[in-house]
Amino acid sequence: MPKFGCRCGHTISLVAAPSPHEASLISAPDFDELCNRRTAAVDAFLAAVRNGKRDDWVTDFYGRPPFDISDGSVIDDIITREDVFSLQITNCPECGRLYRQRKQGVNEWDCFVPEPAPE
Ligand SMILES: [Zn+2]
Repeated sequence: MPKFGCRCGHTISLVAAPSPHEASLISAPDFDELCNRRTAAVDAFLAAVRNGKRDDWVTDFYGRPPFDISDGSVIDDIITREDVFSLQITNCPECGRLYRQRKQGVNEWDCFVPEPAPE
């Protein structure tokens, strides 16, 4: 997503990666589940490496013949793919509004406006 239109009229540039205007949100129970899932997936990959089945594992995971990719990059891809929980947060640097994605993979957002500080 290269840009995001805020209700204040500001266009938030999201070209930089990582963007200083984006974050993610995950509940504590979902984070626990994510940790369990990614640990199991990393364990399965490492077991395949130990057992000489790395190429088969890479083929299954990526759906293509084995290619040159480091173990660290595979593990990073596992961690990314296992996160089916996190919601995107976008923050407007002009007005402070926060936009929370309603559901992962869906371009629908709830908007939150900061309250003025009490006097
Ligand atoms: Zn704004």
